[in-house]
Amino acid sequence: MQEVKKIRTVCRSCHGGCGVIAHVQDGRVVKIEGDSESPISGGTLCSKGLAITQLAYHPDRILHPMKKTKGGWSRISWDEALDTIAHEFKKVIRQYGPQSLFIGQGTGRDYESHFSRFGNMLGTPNVLTAGHMCYLSRIGASLITCGRFPICDYAGGPKCIVLWGVNPLWTNPDEYKGVDFWKAYKKGARLLVIDPRRNFYTQKADLWLQIRPGTDAALALAFLNVIIEEGLYDKEFVANYIHGWEALVERVKLYPPEKVEKITWIPSELIREAARFYALTKPAAIHWGVPTEQTINCTDFTRTAIGLMAVTGNLDAPGGNVFRVPPPVRTVSQFSAHDALTPEQRKARLGGEQYKLAARMTIITPKVAWDAILEGKNYPLKAGILVGTNPVVTGANAKGIYQALKKLDFLAVADLFLTPTAELAQIFLPAGTWLEQNHVSENWKFHGYVLARQKVVEIGEAWQDHKIFLELGKRMGQKWWDTVEQALDYILEPTGLTWEQFKEKGYLQGEMSYYKYRNAGFSTPTRKVEIYSTILEQWGRDPLPKYTEIPESPVSRPDLSEKYPYILNAGLRIPVFFHSANRQIPWLREIRPYPIVELHPDTAKKHGIQEMDWVWIESPRGRVKQRARLNDGIHPMVVVAEHGWWYPEIKEEGHGWDISNINLLTDDSYESLDPVMGATNLRVLLCNISRCEQKQEDRP
Ligand code: SF4
Repeated sequence: MQEVKKIRTVCRSCHGGCGVIAHVQDGRVVKIEGDSESPISGGTLCSKGLAITQLAYHPDRILHPMKKTKGGWSRISWDEALDTIAHEFKKVIRQYGPQSLFIGQGTGRDYESHFSRFGNMLGTPNVLTAGHMCYLSRIGASLITCGRFPICDYAGGPKCIVLWGVNPLWTNPDEYKGVDFWKAYKKGARLLVIDPRRNFYTQKADLWLQIRPGTDAALALAFLNVIIEEGLYDKEFVANYIHGWEALVERVKLYPPEKVEKITWIPSELIREAARFYALTKPAAIHWGVPTEQTINCTDFTRTAIGLMAVTGNLDAPGGNVFRVPPPVRTVSQFSAHDALTPEQRKARLGGEQYKLAARMTIITPKVAWDAILEGKNYPLKAGILVGTNPVVTGANAKGIYQALKKLDFLAVADLFLTPTAELAQIFLPAGTWLEQNHVSENWKFHGYVLARQKVVEIGEAWQDHKIFLELGKRMGQKWWDTVEQALDYILEPTGLTWEQFKEKGYLQGEMSYYKYRNAGFSTPTRKVEIYSTILEQWGRDPLPKYTEIPESPVSRPDLSEKYPYILNAGLRIPVFFHSANRQIPWLREIRPYPIVELHPDTAKKHGIQEMDWVWIESPRGRVKQRARLNDGIHPMVVVAEHGWWYPEIKEEGHGWDISNINLLTDDSYESLDPVMGATNLRVLLCNISRCEQKQEDRP
């Protein structure tokens, strides 16, 4: 046996960043531990990161390229796999043009830069990501409002933290890890929590606002109403740096707390108290989560939240919401070769005229892709590649997605396992985990760091995704580097470091300063915070934020709510899984063997449902089953279900993708999408429940 070698790297079992020391013996990772010198995680790791060895060495993992044949899947070489994809893509380009191809990624394995470069040089604007309703949507809304993305300055010592639809110790690990929140909280920060469910934080909170799901934008506007009416705003900031103040003052008059109480179910006095609490406890930071993005109010909520930060003087102030400065590496955007896409190709982006903010972020909303495949709407999409994504489990209206992917002339998928989505492909490419990756990681985040994720092992014939794009790109006649490491040298070039030198260093940090707008203003057309957006105005949209009632709610559809009386929140996350990933990992599945739907005990009783019973959840689009957990910390009219469920242990085709997959119930109709970002609504739907006759002890 060889001696154990310790290699420093960076986790990516979620959106990544935690420092890891990997112990390697005889070419195999035998142990993972937290890196106490990591500037991101300080030695902490979560269960997903710690379980990476069970993922990387899982017996079901596919470690060689495959093609689908009449008799099933057969092993092929990388050359054959890439040549086949290139051949099929060139055929589509010849017959229909490059816009009839699409590329798609999910939460990714940190290859955004390579993914975009590949798509741009392919000549297709049809880029599918989760960004329309997750993270990129808040960045898009931030860019048009204040020019940059304002993140919580936990390190700067906030005195008030607003947790708005987020659980930082469990999820939302983009710019921060749970440890950042926890340190700030332990230093004495006070808490305002806005969440439909009672949880760990609501019990620690100074104030908890139990909101009706999907009404966050109305609440944020009511906060502005109180702050402005009571003169609690920063007068100097407002005078110098807000564009459209008078118009905003008029707009928020439409949202007095008494009216918003009826919309949000939060008592008006509590709304007033919370608005004062945020405005007067300085500095204050708002940390908001994806539930606020996954509705029709996606863009309006983020814009209103930025309005709150701005008018209270908390924008780019220590302990508030700040613009971190990145180290001087080439950005994802610079690497992505956006100029390779011609103006005509850009114009051909599906839904580009309607969803202008998504187009500005160089993506499309998925609905337009499914319609192009199924109905040839605008023009047909014929073939594509999906990398690190499982949309038939994670996308809204899963049935429609399944039908669309099945109808394609050709689909390639790069992943770790034969997921329900991968099974619909003709070519499967085996991707590497983060243990098998060299990358300048996190160069798309806004926390001010880049981190060296260095390859620890090679497993089977798997390739890191970056190499897949590079080699496939070359076969498509694109300009790439000879090796992954040469591309990393290019990213690092402005720092004066090579990949080899950066690897030794471990990370780089940008130089942070506060109040940067005092020198040059904000990076918007007016150089001010555009709460009145000149860009939205130019696009013919309402330039001011507003609240729109969710199209499928008890308020907007009283007719439907007779049959489907409950509000379904279809997006509960738990810390052991990352969307649809990890259900095959024994350590993690032991913690959560079944999908859970939370019901109020009174609601459960009404339907004869007991704790851990299997429950049918039904919406106008179908029904699935999950197991009941009774929770008296949710409203009796609200049902909260987990997302991302399929059953890798079911070996038949589809792996039970349609048993507990809550996205069979979600909706992607055009009326339900955010009007500029195309965010799909995964958070507020109507449903009914009933007891499932299946015995408690039965497997699904
Ligand atoms: S929080 Fe994310 S990056 Fe950190 S250990 Fe967990 S999975 Fe890895």
